[in-house]
Amino acid sequence: MQQHSGDTLLVDGYQRRFEYLRLSLTEQCNFRCQYCLPDGYHPDRTNQFLAMPEIKRVINAFSELGVKKVRLTGGEPTLRRDFTDIISSIADYSSIKEIALTTNGSRLYHNIAQWKDAGLTSLNVSIDSFSPQQFALITGENKLHQVMRGIDKAFEVGMAKIKINTVLMRGVNDDLSYCLPWLKEHNVDLRFIELMETGEGQSYFKRYHMSGEKIEQQLLKQGWQLMVKEGLSGPAKVYQHTDYLGRIGLIMPYAKNFCQSCNRLRISAIGKLHYCLFGDSAIELRDLLSNDGQKILLQQRILNSLKMKPETHFLHQHDAGITQNLSFIGG
Ligand code: SAM
Ligand code: SF4
Repeated sequence: MQQHSGDTLLVDGYQRRFEYLRLSLTEQCNFRCQYCLPDGYHPDRTNQFLAMPEIKRVINAFSELGVKKVRLTGGEPTLRRDFTDIISSIADYSSIKEIALTTNGSRLYHNIAQWKDAGLTSLNVSIDSFSPQQFALITGENKLHQVMRGIDKAFEVGMAKIKINTVLMRGVNDDLSYCLPWLKEHNVDLRFIELMETGEGQSYFKRYHMSGEKIEQQLLKQGWQLMVKEGLSGPAKVYQHTDYLGRIGLIMPYAKNFCQSCNRLRISAIGKLHYCLFGDSAIELRDLLSNDGQKILLQQRILNSLKMKPETHFLHQHDAGITQNLSFIGG
């Protein structure tokens, strides 16, 4: 089953097209972010994460259906010992044009050169605060310096697309002056992601959630201008300013019509297809990942299930579906 002339077969009932797959490689993490894994990662022996041959079959099936961009996420994906090999094996598929990583940055400094050589094309690093003390309070790890060194190294080795993910928290990082000096000198996109309510994170959400619109108002007042969207860029609104090398993006999942521009599908670390980050079910794929002979069945299951993708999430009604926290699916 192969798409024609670069077009995707992955289209849902609302005419949304999917060329972008987020693949979670593990639920394990070495940080304890307050809004995600405040008590750290607790291994669940029943959960075996996708092995390399299974990962290859997932990528093969989706690339033939029209996926062109893969993001590796987790948990902390870089904790996997075979992480570099995973990048290389995805890079072998010529139809995959972009291999992206979302990471907490703890392993960046020592490894970014080899990841880039293996085929990594873009990098998102999560930094919720540029204050070392606050960073440690949020993540449970006093590692801001280490993460920043890693970002410098990523620039040094020539990573072209670097983005910073910042989860927006009321009273913590909602004052732009904390990041503006850094953005003056660095050619990155810093994206504020509105804190999302998860099954385990309800009280944190109540205390810290704020709308990205407040940041947007500050930006407009200071002369920032909305940029036109690029091809696979997804639902972020991105602002630029002539005095700054960097840009500021806003991801506002509670905004009206947010789901209309949904362009991504997600595979959890245990091989389930989630067509919404906050859906109330997931499609088992693993039984079709044990050998190459089941590829057509796998692709049919993916295409059939896509028809069930709902028009929107129900976060407004405080319904996070089956999502207890984002460490199993990668945000
Ligand atoms: N460990 C990696 C990292 O932190 O970048 C990858 C996985 S993490 C789950 C992916 C992204 O989701 C991070 O940028 C994180 O800040 C974000 N995230 C986690 N929980 C969130 C929540 N409740 N609301 C909004 N973003 C969240
Ligand atoms: Fe780990 Fe990322 Fe969750 Fe933080 S947000 S606990 S780094 S998975």
